[in-house]
Amino acid sequence: MIEKHLKWAKFPYQKSLDEFDLHEQRSLSSKQLKQLQELTWLEQTFNLVFLGPPGVGKTHLAIGLGLEAIQNGLRVSFVPMGELIPFLKTEEYLRKAQIQLNRLRKADLVIIDDLMYMAMDQHEANLFFHLINHLYERSSILLTSNKGPEDWGELLGNQGITTAILDRLLHRSEVIHLNGESHRIKYRESVFQAKSVQN
Ligand code: ADP
Ligand code: MG
Repeated sequence: MIEKHLKWAKFPYQKSLDEFDLHEQRSLSSKQLKQLQELTWLEQTFNLVFLGPPGVGKTHLAIGLGLEAIQNGLRVSFVPMGELIPFLKTEEYLRKAQIQLNRLRKADLVIIDDLMYMAMDQHEANLFFHLINHLYERSSILLTSNKGPEDWGELLGNQGITTAILDRLLHRSEVIHLNGESHRIKYRESVFQAKSVQN
């Protein structure tokens, strides 16, 4: 079952919470990480929002928590925002989109990665709203974004839809701000050296 759930989750890569170095991410305490790892928030259908600039570990943490949930027998669905919208738009006639979205709607935890990836038109924002409305109080949603909720109106275009989405997402949620420098840049791999650690 775990293997099936892992396949369905569609993680872009698998990295556990054990591989997450808290010395590199000072915004999260080990106590907080442990609490998240216990998954009580998931049992209580709380949502999580990870905010912060690129490379600070938002996706890694989301995947780590997703893996933890799967180990505990739960169903997880990971989708980048840039793929979610095309799926929603082609659901009526594309079998692939139907399969993905059916799994997503049945998941206990839905991870939507990189909310600010693209601006949406009215139709797209509407489809997104309907999905959030469906998931509301049924599944936990874990969102990652490089911009805070105050900027989501710009992305979603329509103030009414934005308010309705925020209302549902933030009603029972924990917003976690991650900051610091980009792990990708700090541990940049170079063509000429095996690895370079700056500073
Ligand atoms: P973001 O989603 O915030 O842009 P990622 O989670 O994709 O960033 O992290 C970028 C890379 O850096 C990934 O390979 C991730 O595993 C690694 N990384 C980031 N923060 C940490 C950390 N605190 N400990 C270990 N690896 C990290
Ligand atoms: Mg990311």
